[in-house]
Amino acid sequence: MLERARQVLKTYWAYDSFRSIQEQVISSVLLDNDTLALMPTGGGKSICYQVPALMKAGICIVISPLISLMKDQSDSLERKGIKSCCLSEEISHNTLDNVLNKVITMKYKFLFITPERIKNQVFQHYLYHMQPSLIVVDEAHCISEWGHDFRPEYREISTLRAYYPQVPILALTATATNQTIEDIQTNLELKKNNCLKGSFQRENLNYYVFEDNDKIGKTIEIIKKYDSAGLIYVTTRKNAILYAEELKKHNLSVAEYHAGLSNYERKIRQEQWQKGEIKVMVATKAFGMGIDKQDVRFVIHLDLPSSIEEYYQELGRAGRDGKEAYAILYWHEKDINNLRKRVLMSYPEMEKIKEIYNALYSQYNIAYYDGKNYEKDFSLTEFCYKYHFDFISVFNTIQILSREAILQYNQREYPVSKVKIQSNDFEIRNILKISDDYSSLLAALLRICECNHIEYTFIDEQKIANYLRWEKEQVIIKLKSLEKMGVITYLRFKAGEYIIFLQDRVKKEEIYISEKNYQQLKENSIARAEKMIDYLKNAECREQYIHQYFDIETEKCKKCDRCLEAHTTHQTLEEKIVKALLQGEKPITYFENNTDFPEGERTINFIRQMLDEGIFTLNGNKIRFNKK
Ligand SMILES: [Zn+2]
Repeated sequence: MLERARQVLKTYWAYDSFRSIQEQVISSVLLDNDTLALMPTGGGKSICYQVPALMKAGICIVISPLISLMKDQSDSLERKGIKSCCLSEEISHNTLDNVLNKVITMKYKFLFITPERIKNQVFQHYLYHMQPSLIVVDEAHCISEWGHDFRPEYREISTLRAYYPQVPILALTATATNQTIEDIQTNLELKKNNCLKGSFQRENLNYYVFEDNDKIGKTIEIIKKYDSAGLIYVTTRKNAILYAEELKKHNLSVAEYHAGLSNYERKIRQEQWQKGEIKVMVATKAFGMGIDKQDVRFVIHLDLPSSIEEYYQELGRAGRDGKEAYAILYWHEKDINNLRKRVLMSYPEMEKIKEIYNALYSQYNIAYYDGKNYEKDFSLTEFCYKYHFDFISVFNTIQILSREAILQYNQREYPVSKVKIQSNDFEIRNILKISDDYSSLLAALLRICECNHIEYTFIDEQKIANYLRWEKEQVIIKLKSLEKMGVITYLRFKAGEYIIFLQDRVKKEEIYISEKNYQQLKENSIARAEKMIDYLKNAECREQYIHQYFDIETEKCKKCDRCLEAHTTHQTLEEKIVKALLQGEKPITYFENNTDFPEGERTINFIRQMLDEGIFTLNGNKIRFNKK
């Protein structure tokens, strides 16, 4: 059986042998066992399902959280000559029918869908006629509300189980604690617990954590030193802009990326970074999932991530090509307070949640005991502005309401408009001859946006307006006319976000949010943030600490800052105090509540002596080392 699997691997991938646990996972799937595979990013997850699927009769259904992710995988299969299709959100009814007809007549080997698709009625109708060989759940940690990327729709995947009780499920993820694993297994109704864990040792990854006041200065040094692709993670839009500006002043190839940019702009920047036209991206966590760049030499964190999961996933984007890469985190005592504040802020009080709930229904004039199954365009930013709510509270309230199945909030991944040219060249030449607005608009579409006959091309009405020196509204009106004339097809999106109300609106006192759920979620977030803080101060080896967090036993890495420190110096307590102060002034409390300085009395006596001798001085309540 494995012999044949190797042949398939050789034929389609030109590899001679499998890596890490690929072989175990493939055997398990070929024996029709439900399987959960935990493999590091870049560990060759896709081969684990693609090889057995190619060996089995029937179609392989792959559920993936992001359209871009699905498209990448589907395209790479197509390039190998394997028939595959990808159902994006914005597919028309007709096309959907068409594609699904091909699916049931076995024209495809792989079908990629988002979890939302499973609820679609047309899709469900076709499910009766499909003959899948394998169901794959990619990024399976999105199922678990203990994870960091929770997606309520992921909880619905088990619906497929009812259709195909005999078809094995393969769940894949790169980050999961034991709690998350349990949650995935229960939720997907896996027949038995069969979790395979790959090796998470990344030989080429070097972890460094520094307490430093001059984050930006250090970052500049690193960018100059490695002069290659890199990522810098921050937690707020404001910081992304600030740091990027600061770095640009030093003539570095840098851009910022955050949720505040238009989708079009985000798409362009991601592509530029991917191609190496921009070397370093200063990004919030909005940037990441679905990117696949091999030669990222460093990932720097300038703000504290809210959990080890988030941190690990972000730094994991460094060094996928197997060459030396660096994960560097700079922190500062005040970052710790900021993180704690951020976590608390993300859990609005119950009263506030109810207030936001009311406003969410009110904005559409939905009456009490009405609203179920309404789908409405929604803008988070405009909503916050109109009702004077802060963004994080609203965002988290929506998360909480989603978990209670009261409503669902979605973002269309590419909420930009698209155009496809319908007329032939002759007709277009005729229109271009008429020198009026239509011809200049059409020229802009063809030359600036590079629209064509073959496929839809993304356009940005604002950019066209700027180029033509028109108003945006005028561009939209003319595009619609061109469509009426049969020259183009114009798919216009009004907004990227929408809300689906899953329950009728009720009066404030009747809103039910499980106190237990709420408390538990809150406590979990706090605990995750505290683990992150503990990592900064108490990890004996950075890599080992992270692995232990994911319940994986490993040796010390021998190359992180902590391992190197332990290796090179056996410092005395006094040396440690001096070293700490050399990095910057510290309040006395720093030495009192720190496991690095276990002998409290000796520490205090030494500091006193140094103060007396004028080697240390007091600056307010902080101790400073007098450099001479
Ligand atoms: Zn180490």
